[in-house]
Amino acid sequence: MSGTRALIWDWNGTLLDDVEACIAAVNTMLSRRGLPRTDAERYRRQFGFPVRGYYELLGFDFTRDRWNDVCVEYHALYESLARSSPLRTGAEHLLDDLRIAGCRNLVLSASETSLLKRMVEARGLGARLNGLHGLSDLHGRSKAHLGRSLLRELALPPGHVLMIGDTAHDSETAAEAGCGCVLMEGGHASTERLLSLGRPVLRDIPALREWLAANFLPGLRATR
Ligand SMILES: [Mg+2]
Repeated sequence: MSGTRALIWDWNGTLLDDVEACIAAVNTMLSRRGLPRTDAERYRRQFGFPVRGYYELLGFDFTRDRWNDVCVEYHALYESLARSSPLRTGAEHLLDDLRIAGCRNLVLSASETSLLKRMVEARGLGARLNGLHGLSDLHGRSKAHLGRSLLRELALPPGHVLMIGDTAHDSETAAEAGCGCVLMEGGHASTERLLSLGRPVLRDIPALREWLAANFLPGLRATR
């Protein structure tokens, strides 16, 4: 694998703009159980990993619902709803320009691997990525262990690897893996929560590009 630097991208909310699809899936499940629906503001304030804790906050009763059934139900709804979720604006061009500037691009997600692969392929991103790493089940527990092994595999100096995410779990995964992290607004966590994590917080993909050109990859054009 060529490239002396690497970016490890989160998928949901970071490269993929799927917050609406997630909220719609969650709201369908809440309605089915007679529980109050959520909205974008509350979702971004409450959502987190492990995902089971988020469902408990919403009022799911796991003495009645089996956790695995909830995961299967959610993913059936989500996969159908997220078919129309776009990539975040400018993501494809940025991935191309990063590669040209000598940077590897990998995806590390708490999604189940085959679902992740289907979503990435459906958006024509397979060839733009140097690796795709997800979990073996639908339970959305933690991807921290994958982050650690990925860093070992990359065999690059820690300062040459950066994680890009949209939740506290991305920041925690980077800390455990021993690399830096920048966080994107507009994903699955509120700006307030992101700012409390002590990482750079960027508005969107153009702002991320500018930040990367100034702080991580001097060969990258700051605008396109
Ligand atoms: Mg995410």
